[in-house]
Amino acid sequence: MVREILVWPGPILSTRSEEVESVDAEVKALVADLFDTMYATKNGIGLAAPQIGVHRRVAVIDLSKGRDPKQALVLVNPVIERREGEVDDEEGCLSVPGEAEAVRRAGRVWLKALGLDGKEYCLEAEGLLAVALQHEVDHLDGMLYVDRLSALKRDLIRKRMKKLKSRRRSGASR
Ligand SMILES: [Zn+2]
Repeated sequence: MVREILVWPGPILSTRSEEVESVDAEVKALVADLFDTMYATKNGIGLAAPQIGVHRRVAVIDLSKGRDPKQALVLVNPVIERREGEVDDEEGCLSVPGEAEAVRRAGRVWLKALGLDGKEYCLEAEGLLAVALQHEVDHLDGMLYVDRLSALKRDLIRKRMKKLKSRRRSGASR
């Protein structure tokens, strides 16, 4: 089911999510909703549960945007165990539509998470996938990429997002 993606700023996006105890039917339904919602955006490569208003440590990533099922990643209780190097890549977020800024991240990460089968797996990633993993784990900690920008840049984006939200509320179209 396609759910509404919350737009920053807002308290729900900035709250830490709770660990999942077991990958039960409810978590599986949440994962399905995350994929449906992410694919419906056409350009999203990652989505975390708090972005659809659910405070569970669950996120999905698919760099192929639905074209290659092997790239669809399910992250339940993900933990980044090791980080190495530095990159400054431009990042965007489905909760901050229309914006993109360079963010400093580790260039390589080692991550541990549960999959949809409830089994733990380990993943070593670099490049775009490493950045996406760090971005999604941040969401589960109540942090967005804008929180990693300078106060000046963040305030400018906040103003634009507030305008966007008021336009959406009034039903006006661009
Ligand atoms: Zn995001």
